[in-house]
Amino acid sequence: MKVARSEGEAVSVFTERARKYTAKLRLEVFSHYCGGEPHCQCEGCKTTYIGFLQLDHVNGDGAAHRKENKLGTGGARLWAWVKANGYPEGFQVLCRNCNGAKFTGTQCPLHGQDH
Ligand SMILES: [Zn+2]
Ligand SMILES: [Zn+2]
Repeated sequence: MKVARSEGEAVSVFTERARKYTAKLRLEVFSHYCGGEPHCQCEGCKTTYIGFLQLDHVNGDGAAHRKENKLGTGGARLWAWVKANGYPEGFQVLCRNCNGAKFTGTQCPLHGQDH
């Protein structure tokens, strides 16, 4: 059995585990909503780097949903929630750019064009 030598080491082992678990959870959830390799679901967008991808509420009620389910600002807590709830409808995967651009409208202004 491996024993952590110091408190600092114990903490880093814990955060490393948490980081791996979160990365796995993210991949699992995003792959589910993408039906395979995670990618931005905005038509024409070529982003596949998972670090740029986010889980988006299709109809824009994300803030209310997160508040209702005490999910903070989303991210890992939201991914765990959708998994625990059997991957409900109403979510899509978008990259930061497309999600951010959508903020002022209903969809990314470049939807359907190469970007
Ligand atoms: Zn995109
Ligand atoms: Zn887009």
